[in-house]
Formats: sequence, structure tokens, C-alpha cells
Amino acid sequence: MQMSFRKRYLTRPIHKWAKGVLPTLSATEAEAINSGDVHFEAELFSGKPDWAMLRNMKAPQLNDEETAFIEGPCRAFCDMVDPWEIDHHTGDLPAEAWDFLRENGFFGMIIPKQHGGLGFSAYAHSEVVRYIASHSVVAAVTVMVPNSLGPGELILQFGTDDQKAAWLPRLASGEELPAFGLTSEDAGSDASAMTDDGVICTGQWNGEEVLGIRLNWAKRYITLSPVCTVLGLAFKLRDPDGLMGETEDIGITCALVPTDLPGVEIGRRHLPSGTMFQNGPTTGKDVFIPLDHIIGGPEYAGRGWMMLMSALAAGRGISLPSLSAAATAMAAHTTGAYSRIRTQFSLPIGLFGGVQEPMARIASSAYVIDAGRRLTTAALDEGHKLAVISAIMKYHATDRMRDAINDAMDVHSGKAVIDGPLNYLQPIYRTIPIGITVEGANIVTRNLIIFGQGAIRAHPHLLKEMQALQEPDEDASLDAFDTHFWAHVNHSVRTTFRAGWSAWTGRGNAPSDAGKVAPIYRRLSRWSAAFALTADMAFLTLGGALKRKEMISARLGDALSEMYLIAAALKRWEDEGRHEADLPLVHHAADTGFARIGRALDETIANMPAKWVGWVLRPILRPGAHTRGPSDKVTEAVAKLVYEPNASRDRLVWGAHPPKPDSGLGLLDTAFKLVLEAEPITKRLRSARKSPREGLDAGILTDAEFEQLKRAEDAVQKVVAVDEYAPEELAQLFPDMNRRSTWPEAAE
Ligand SMILES: Cc1cc2nc3c(=O)[nH]c(=O)nc-3n(C[C@H](O)[C@H](O)[C@H](O)COP(=O)(O)OP(=O)(O)OC[C@H]3O[C@@H](n4cnc5c(N)ncnc54)[C@H](O)[C@@H]3O)c2cc1C
Repeated sequence: MQMSFRKRYLTRPIHKWAKGVLPTLSATEAEAINSGDVHFEAELFSGKPDWAMLRNMKAPQLNDEETAFIEGPCRAFCDMVDPWEIDHHTGDLPAEAWDFLRENGFFGMIIPKQHGGLGFSAYAHSEVVRYIASHSVVAAVTVMVPNSLGPGELILQFGTDDQKAAWLPRLASGEELPAFGLTSEDAGSDASAMTDDGVICTGQWNGEEVLGIRLNWAKRYITLSPVCTVLGLAFKLRDPDGLMGETEDIGITCALVPTDLPGVEIGRRHLPSGTMFQNGPTTGKDVFIPLDHIIGGPEYAGRGWMMLMSALAAGRGISLPSLSAAATAMAAHTTGAYSRIRTQFSLPIGLFGGVQEPMARIASSAYVIDAGRRLTTAALDEGHKLAVISAIMKYHATDRMRDAINDAMDVHSGKAVIDGPLNYLQPIYRTIPIGITVEGANIVTRNLIIFGQGAIRAHPHLLKEMQALQEPDEDASLDAFDTHFWAHVNHSVRTTFRAGWSAWTGRGNAPSDAGKVAPIYRRLSRWSAAFALTADMAFLTLGGALKRKEMISARLGDALSEMYLIAAALKRWEDEGRHEADLPLVHHAADTGFARIGRALDETIANMPAKWVGWVLRPILRPGAHTRGPSDKVTEAVAKLVYEPNASRDRLVWGAHPPKPDSGLGLLDTAFKLVLEAEPITKRLRSARKSPREGLDAGILTDAEFEQLKRAEDAVQKVVAVDEYAPEELAQLFPDMNRRSTWPEAAE
């Protein structure tokens, strides 16, 4: 058949050129990419998001059983846990709390009912973690890990029927406690460089000689490792004697390793940021397991990387985003209340603009993180494997949690610095670096994963073009490339017009019934087109080198992530019933995101090695324009929402474990209530410029009002007070303290 003019004279030279510049996919990368799918991020990548897809998604909801679980067992479990005691005295959950977790199925939330688990939805799983995290991080991590990336998730996704039957009921009942061992002494972010190995050999198992694996490993930082009964172990499998087949280096493999086997060592502990969940190293020396301990059986030998990526796609979108949502909501709850009860310069500090700014940042982060968590779990519950979105959520939820907690610390000042049982911010403050580090350290997630992998997955044509280029048959390769390349060109031309038109006219696409948030939809459409065009230019000019240009990749990832989070905020507003009062939160979140997107694209263009890209893109996209953040008016409105009781505040901080009245949080809630009730009296006194005593003497206050004010003032004093310790109390925390002195004469 005759080759068309286009194919012969245009596509063929481009095909040749593209082979040199476009990144090639290794077999491992291809497997990792195929292990996840795309969702709304692909719409944002297209430059023309389909808003109906977003709006038609069902809002996540708990069923009756899931609601009862949170109100019953979750609440009872939290009541058993005293975070200060664990981190400063006992170093572990109480024994009865461990038993309670086992007896009530907490370790089997993701395991279907037919295997003895609770069979919860991703949303319910996330709600449980969020609820527990609102009380204790140690408790939340303990529940999170068996339900996240690890043996349970891996067996569910890849296990053989026999493995499911044998292991899932025991994991669900807590008879088996799992840990997941990927990180090695020598390989952290680059887990594929691990030196932990398994060699195919024969060995004794239940009195018979069977084909199996001899394992040697040294893992570090493994959560639950000190107490686990089964390790989900990742290692590099080799078959030097050809006992399984012809391949010697089989590759990364995941297997189940009971920890009572000879050669396994567990029990030693790390102390992660003073947060005393069980975490430690594990080593194994010449540990033998039969081949059927490979998760998925022998045919999954060497497919561990794909399995890990696939399992991570679910867990990473649930655990840390839920914990971050709890922490940020707590920051909004406490900072709003504290800023109302704490007065300086005779005014509540929440009335000062300088305090309102961080308060608004905290509140809008709380809104947006929870919006992202809901959208993500809803998509997971639709059955998607969200490789890119879960990375976006992991990075941005933990990063914003860090900013929110830092802001909360700044507003609380001395109150937040002094450690003790009354300090409700310290436990989460200590935890922040853990969230940043685990499940893909944040720097590597931002620079390498979100856009690096997201681009290939979510771009409408790129992966198909790369696959066409890798097709070994030259004619078939050219044919496929011809189709996808010209579709790509068509897409780019349309995107260019769309991006330019919307950047100059402000007329992006918005649903006709979007109501008061229509301008946000329009701006999001505008930035989606701008992002799609900038990303295309980056592919065109950098090709495979884009992988190594981490700063460019990170900025493009930031733009994609911010768009996802703004879309999630819009979805939340819609799902919650379009509350007018919540609009300042949506606007603050959107304005913050748009400013970041504009800056990210501006800096991407400025740093593109080919300078002509800037000359072409700047006049079309105007990336530096409209990058102002939220206005002072919006900031003040958002700060006001958390400064006083109202329905928006309730929606923002809902669903936390109710604190004990004498705890730091309980005292704060009481003081907030009493101060608000006394507000009319306080105002009267303030305008008369009198102290309560002077007010009473001058007849401005009745005796009852004076007493009411005193009760409120006493409650405030209890909150503003910080912990202090008698020497004998300190001696319990620091047993050596009283026996030593810095004074030489005392030591003699
Ligand atoms: C408390 C805690 C619990 C954990 N639980 C588990 C567990 O249960 N199971 C498990 O297997 N592991 C666990 N980990 C390990 C965790 O996943 C690793 O710490 C993480 O992968 C990072 O590895 P690393 O600490 O060795 O840092 P490194 O890999 O040494 O990284 C150091 C820094 O370099 C950055 N970096 C590395 N490569 C790149 C790159 N190419 N581009 C840009 N930046 C890069 C990283 O982002 C990081 O900021 C846990 C860790 C901690 C601290």
C-alpha cells in the first residue's frame, strides 16, 4: 500500500527525531505506569476539563455500619489512649487497647467481609483514620499501617486464592500483625537499589524438601516491625542455579515472611520524633520460605515493583491525607478559639490583621485538604487506582499540614512551645517530619513523581506516542506514531487558541449552573489550558531530558496539584449544598491556588533552556498576571469564620474525637464557650474602659454578670496556663536529673 504524503514527508522525519528525544520506557517503568490509572487529573491535563465528570461523581458517604463503628469502637478506643502517657511514660499503646483493636476488627478494615474483615469503603477507612488521628497520632498510625500498603493490601490485590483463604482472616482478626519492609539500610527513596536478596534454592519446610527462597535482609524504619508476626518483605530475587527457569536476576519480589522463622530478628525500636508508635529495624539471615510465600505465587516473582506501586496508589491517597486533614482541622479549631479567648493590647488577638492572615491560611488549608481527601476517596471507591492523585494528596496534604501547624504554633506562641499534657499542638508538631518523609519522601514525590509519572499517564497522547516509538516493527511503529502524533498536534493547536483566548478575555469554560463559583471554574479552565500548553512545550523542547530537569518537573507538578485541589474545593462546596457562608473559604483556597499556579508556570517558562519558549508562551499565556493571592477582605472573612461559632466553622472542624473536659482541648472548648457567652458584658466594659471590678463598683455590671465574667476569666487562665513540673515529677521523666549537677562543688 502507498504511504500517504503526510506520513512519508512529515511523519517519518519527525518519527526519527522523536525516537532520539522522547523518553523511552524501561520494562519496570512500563509496569509501574500500567499499575495505576488516571482520573480527574487527566481532565486538567487535557486543557479542557470536563466539569460534568467532576460534578457527577457521587459524594462519599458512610453507611450505617461504618457510622456506628466510628461512634462506637473508634470512640471507645480513643478513650483508652492517653497520648502524653504513651509518648512520655509507657512508650506503647496500653495492652487493653491493642486487644480492643484486634477484637473489633480495626486491622481488617480493607479486608472484605467474606474473608472476615470489615469491608469498609475507602472513605470509611479514611474517616476512621481521621477520627483517631484527631486524638492520637500513635493510635492512628497503629491502625493505618495494617490497612495501608502492606501484606493485607498486597494479598487482596495480587494474592492467590489459597493465600487469601489462609492469611486474610488471620490478618482481619489481628491474630497476625503485619509490617511492610521495603526501606533498606542502603536504599531509601531509591528502593529499587536495595541489596536485600533472595536466592532460589531447596530447603526444608514442614519436614519436606521443597523449592523456596533463602532470604537475607537488613531493613530500617519499619512501622510495627518490633511487634509484627508477619513481614511483607520486598527483596531482589535471583536464581543463579536456574531452578525456576532461565532468568538469573528475577527482580524485586514481595513475599510473606512469618517472623517466628529461624533467622528473623525483630524487636529493636527506633524512636520516631518522640512519637512512640512501634517502629524499628528488622534483619533476616538465611531465612528460608517456600515459593508459595511469594505474594501472588511464583508467577509474580520479579513483579514486586509493579505490585508496590499499585498498592501505594491506594494507601498513599488515604492514610496521610486523612491524618493531615485531622491535624489541620484541629489547627483551625484550636487557633480560632484561642485567638478569641487570648487578649493582648486589650483585644482578642484574632482581631489583629497579623493574626488573621495565618488563621485564614489554616482554615482554607483545612477546607482544601479535606476536599481533596473526599474527592480522592470517592474516586478510589469507584475502583480507580490513583497513582498520580494519591501522590498529589500525599505531598500536598502533609506539606499544608506542616504549614498549618506552624501557623497555629505562631498564633499560640508560648502556649504551644511549652510541652506537657495540656499542650494540644506539640504531639502533632513532632509528627510532621514523619508525614513528610514516609510513603515517598516529599521532595522526591514533588520533583520526580507527580509530574514525572503524571505527565506520561495523564497526558492525552504522550504515552501512546512513546509506545508507538517503542514498537519493534518499524512500519507498525510509524503507522501508530502517525495517528497519535497528529492527534497530539491537533490537541496542541486547539489548546494554544483556548489558552490565549481565556488568558486575554477571562472567558474560560464553566458549567452554566455553577452559580457564585462560576468565576473560579472559568479561571481553572484558563489555567488548565495554560498548563497543558506549557507542559507540551516542555516535552517538545526537553524530551527525555525533562526527567532530569527536576525543578521544572516540580513546578509543573505544583500547577497540576493546585488545579486538582481547587477542583476538589469546588466539588466540596457543591456536595455540601452550596453554602453561601462557606464561599470565603472556597475563594481563599482558589485564590491561593491560582497564585501558585501562575507563579509555577511563570517560573517554568523563565527556566526553560530554550529561550524562544518564553517569547512564544508569555504573550499567549500571561503567566505572571493574576498571581496575587487572596485579598485582605477574603482573608478577614475566612479568619472570622473560625474566630466565632457558626455552621461553616462546624463543617470545617467536624467529626473529631470529643476531648475530655480537663484535657488541653477540653479546657479550650469550655473557655471559648464561656468567653462568647460573656461577650456582651465584655463589650460593655470595653466601651466604658473599665476593669470588671471598676465596672461592678460603677454599677455597669450586676453581681451575676461579674461572676459570669470571673468564670470566663478563670477558664481562660486555665487555657493560657502551661504545664510546669515539680523536681520529683521531672525526675520521673529524667531519672538521672537529681543525681547530677552542673555545679562542680555539688558534684564533689
Ligand atoms: C517513622 C518512619 C516510618 C517508616 N515506615 C516505613 C515502613 O513501614 N516500611 C518501609 O518500608 N519504610 C518505612 N519508612 C521509610 C521511608 O519510606 C523512607 O524514610 C523514605 O522512603 C525516605 O528514605 P530515606 O529516609 O532513606 O531518605 P533518602 O532516600 O536518603 O532521601 C533523602 C532526601 O533526598 C531526597 N531525594 C532522594 N532522591 C531524590 C531524587 N531523585 N530527587 C529529588 N530528591 C531526592 C528525598 O526526598 C529526601 O528528602 C519509614 C520511615 C520513617 C522515618
